[in-house]
This record gives sequence, structure tokens and C-alpha cells, in this order.
Amino acid sequence: MAQIIDGRKVSDKVREAVREEAARFVAKHGYKPKLAVVLAGEDPASQIYVRNKEKGCAEVGMDSEVRRLPATIRQEELTAKVRELNADKSVHGILVQIPLPEGLSEQAVLGEIDPRKDVDGLHPLNMGKLLKGDDSGFVPCTPQGVIELILSTGIDISGKEAAVIGRSNIVGKPTALLLMQRHATVTICHSRTKDLGTVLRRSEIVVSAVGSARLVTGEMVKPGAVVIDVGTNRVAGKLVGDVDFDSVKEAAGYITPVPGGVGPMTIAFLLKNTLRAAQLLAP
Ligand code: NAP
Repeated sequence: MAQIIDGRKVSDKVREAVREEAARFVAKHGYKPKLAVVLAGEDPASQIYVRNKEKGCAEVGMDSEVRRLPATIRQEELTAKVRELNADKSVHGILVQIPLPEGLSEQAVLGEIDPRKDVDGLHPLNMGKLLKGDDSGFVPCTPQGVIELILSTGIDISGKEAAVIGRSNIVGKPTALLLMQRHATVTICHSRTKDLGTVLRRSEIVVSAVGSARLVTGEMVKPGAVVIDVGTNRVAGKLVGDVDFDSVKEAAGYITPVPGGVGPMTIAFLLKNTLRAAQLLAP
């Protein structure tokens, strides 16, 4: 029977450290680190995420502001908003909430963010730095949270067989790179992977970032494996992950619940990245 990894508890520690460090920052510089979130359109899930980010900033003594823009905004106007925030000295972290409304290019807008304020780590420069193993850049928040959750179990990642399911720029790819940096042997799986079960059954670490309920079941998991469930799915009004929790918890050594696993870690590392941006930009 697996031990449950308590993401709230692990994230509280990260947040507490950020709160202390932010207080030192304010004492030294006389202003608060500030996150600016650009929210285009009315996507209900995005509205909740953005509210949680504002709340998270306030809880650790940092400022935030949300620029709400209509879904009908044109690409050039969105670019202009980002450039305004790039030039605003009171703003240290910029996050463009994704998904953008239809017709707007994510790639184009992410490339406009000043890489020094890119707290989501999605600017090509920061993605390139991660690929090269240059730790002067910003790393996406959820993958950092995943690594912290694995480390919280006390296992040594080095030399382990790890499987990452999903190859997105925001979760799958950076998670695989971070695991590789820590010397795991990583297999990246995606929608064309022929036999997911065969890959998972040899993996001591499994990270699922797909968005498909019950994708990973108990018989696919190696006994004792660490299973991190990034997925979020609505099933009959309930939030569930990608992992069939009841069957997988019988086989795994450690497992994250949904909710209460990866979710709280993402915000904690967003706060950490914002504080770091403010520190690096400080005179
Ligand atoms: P995404 O961009 O849609 O990527 C999903 C990935 O899953 C793709 O690489 C896709 O493969 C792969 N995939 C789809 N069906 C598959 C299957 N049957 N078997 C294996 N792989 C399959 O999603 P994302 O942005 O990375 O997010 C993934 C999930 O994590 C979502 O549920 C999202 O809500 C959740 N999420 C949670 C947090 C959090 O803080 N808790 C943060 C971010 C994301 P292809 O590349 O071949 O299409």
C-alpha cells in the first residue's frame, strides 16, 4: 500500500521559505516583489487559477496585478500589453495565462516577455537554458514542483528508470529534462506510444501529465514505484488525475492525490520564481 505524498504539506514548506525570503527582500529594498498576470478572455478554469495566484502572492507578502483583456483582443494589442509590463519597473514577474482565446498565438506572445521576468519559464531563451543545463534561467513551475515531491519521499533520483507521460512544453518536456539533470534514465511517452504499460512496468518513477482520467492503472505500475499525477480531469463534477488512484495505490510505493498533490506545488514555485526575478532585477 503506497504512502500518500501530501502536496499541501510539501508546498507549505516552499511557501514558508518564500515568505521569509520575501520579508528580507522588502526590508532591504523597500518594495515588494510583484507578479503581473495577463488574462485574456473568460475561460472559467483560468479565472480560478488566476485568483489562486493573486491569493498566493498576498499570502507570502508579495504584490500582484491582473490585466484582464477581452477575448476579442488582437495579437498586436496583446503584444503591446506585454511590452508595457516589460518596461514597468514595479513588475518583476510576468505570466500570460494559457490557453489564449482562439486566433491568438501563444508562441508569439511568450516570445515577447522579457526573459528576466518570464516566471513561467516559457520564453525560448529560458527553455534553451534548461535544455543546456544552464541554471541561470527560469524553469516552469509544475515540473519544479514534481521534482520537489519526488525528493520529499527521500528516494535518490540518480540512476532510476523514470517515465514521463506527456511531452508538452509546460509540463512533460521540462519534467523529463529535470529528471535527466538529476541522472535518471528517462523515457518520454505520448499519444503515439505503442505500449505504455511495458514502459511503466519497468519505471521506478512515473510522472503522468496527460489529462486523461484512469490512463494509468494498478497493473501498469512497478511495485514500489513513485507515481506523480499531474493530470486534472473533471469526471462527474469531481476533480481527478490521470492515475486510477485506488488500484495504483495498491502497487505503488508513493503516490500523489488529486487534488492536494501537484496543484499546490505549481503555485508555490510560481511564487519562488517571482521572488527570484525580483532579486535578480533588484538594483
Ligand atoms: P497537453 O499540452 O494537452 O499535453 C498532453 C500530453 O499528453 C501530450 O504530449 C499528448 O501526446 C499526451 N497524451 C495524450 N493522450 C495520451 C495517451 N493516451 N497516452 C499517452 N500520452 C498521451 O497538456 P499539459 O498542458 O501538458 O497538461 C497535462 C495535464 O496536466 C492536464 O490535465 C493539465 O490540466 C494538467 N496540469 C496540471 C497542473 C497542476 O498544477 N496540477 C499544471 C499544468 C497542467 P501528443 O504530444 O502526442 O499529443
